[in-house]
Amino acid sequence: MDVLAGAVLTADGFVHGSVTIEDGVIAGLSRSIPKDALAKGVVIPAFSNAHTHLADAIVQEEVKGSLEDIVAPPRGLKHRVLAGAKDEDVVDAMRGMLRVMARTGVGSFRDFREGGLPGVRLLLRAAIGGGVATTVLGRPARIEYRRDEVDAILRGADGIGISSVLDWPRDEVEKLAGHARRAGKAFATHCSERVREDIDGVLDLKPAFLVHMLEATDADLERTADAGVPVVACPRSNVFFGKVPDLPRLLRHGLTVHLGTDNAMVNSPSILREMEFAYKVSRLRGGLAARDALAMSLSAGRAVSGQPGVGIQVGDPASLVVFDLPSDGDLFTTLLRAAESDIALVYLAGRSWPRKGSAEPPRRAGSRRQRPRPRTRR
Ligand SMILES: [Zn+2]
Repeated sequence: MDVLAGAVLTADGFVHGSVTIEDGVIAGLSRSIPKDALAKGVVIPAFSNAHTHLADAIVQEEVKGSLEDIVAPPRGLKHRVLAGAKDEDVVDAMRGMLRVMARTGVGSFRDFREGGLPGVRLLLRAAIGGGVATTVLGRPARIEYRRDEVDAILRGADGIGISSVLDWPRDEVEKLAGHARRAGKAFATHCSERVREDIDGVLDLKPAFLVHMLEATDADLERTADAGVPVVACPRSNVFFGKVPDLPRLLRHGLTVHLGTDNAMVNSPSILREMEFAYKVSRLRGGLAARDALAMSLSAGRAVSGQPGVGIQVGDPASLVVFDLPSDGDLFTTLLRAAESDIALVYLAGRSWPRKGSAEPPRRAGSRRQRPRPRTRR
């Protein structure tokens, strides 16, 4: 049993007390603060990264040029580098990103994995033992629907995630999305990133979520909200590729919004950094409440499992982050100013995770030998 204490984010907001963890599950919430807590501070659920391409970390050069030059299949920079990379190097690059997520308090992520069935298998391999709950959205190796290939992909992956509906012939993408749906798996796509796309044509495919929606009109956003389809915003990626996202507009239309970090050669998969940027860039578009910025950073995992709210609840898997920060004042605002060096402890998959540079192996749940390490500055 482990106890984390301090200001705990619950469904009712921050409450002074403690969280008890047993066998990797939240076993109790209490108003008491025991002396022997494993860590004390501001305790929140682990972050949720709603959109990544982790394998892009294989690209090591400075990234220049347009969206098309860099990410458009099949000739964009990332696709050329990935096509020429050894499997082991791709797995290592993804493992490195999984370690960054574990250290920066990301408890779950959803990756759009290119490269067909072999691509899916590489990510599944990289994710073993990484502690971060992995949702793999694979795609066919080519822009072509073949039932056998999609069957094989969906046996390993959680669904299908494609570059854009525009990249596919209509009848083929309908077969692809229908196949995922019949298999009980997710179909998701980037949408209206570079140019506006026909929203009805996209929503007809029953997507689990849409990524970007930068060029969507108000009517498009309304239809998306009516269809109950969440939108994943990736503000650092958008600005890198030359566009300012309008998150306040997404919220005004009643959309559920999650944050993703997108291409790993452009952004670290740290949601803490994405959250701060989302909040700040949104001031150019009328501003975002600190509480909303945090909700966008925590909720993707829950939305997928259909649970409401973003606070810590009894029965949840114990994926938690403790920040070494003062526990009074407006803690939503405090978290928006937090740095990764303020993270005192990340607790995922039944254990705490070591800091970068720490020689200590991850601590097993239930043992109290280790205390959270002192804050280090990077
Ligand atoms: Zn993307």
